[in-house]
Amino acid sequence: VTTRPLPVPNELTEAFWKYARNGQLALQRCSSCGYYYHPPEPYCIRCLSRKLEFSPVSGKGHLRSYTEVWAGARHDYFKAAIPYIVAGVELEEQPELVVYANITDATVSSLAIGMPLEVHFEQLNDEIAIPQFRPAKNSFAPDKEA
Ligand SMILES: [Zn+2]
Repeated sequence: VTTRPLPVPNELTEAFWKYARNGQLALQRCSSCGYYYHPPEPYCIRCLSRKLEFSPVSGKGHLRSYTEVWAGARHDYFKAAIPYIVAGVELEEQPELVVYANITDATVSSLAIGMPLEVHFEQLNDEIAIPQFRPAKNSFAPDKEA
């Protein structure tokens, strides 16, 4: 069995992965101007402040772009996973705040640009959980996932 290659947290990304393993999507945010961005940077790309923190976000957004991968995967895990969907998800916190992830619980024919999505986490081991997105549950469904 080939397992998914694991991300390797570094100084810039370790807080992201710490939140993720606790089931929360948190993105780097500038304490000076409030701008979110992803992936993390050593300083704010907007005001150059070095006062940065990770701030939890809703995990809600919409589908901005997507593709279904059928060929070209190099790692055995991804070769075995074909076909899979890779998408850019624009989060509701800020225009242009885009996180790339797989779309799960959907077929490519059921996707539409602009459709609402929500984050969930794929637990790879005790340390690493990766954020993935799936179609948002119907807003009038009364039960929410814990
Ligand atoms: Zn800033």
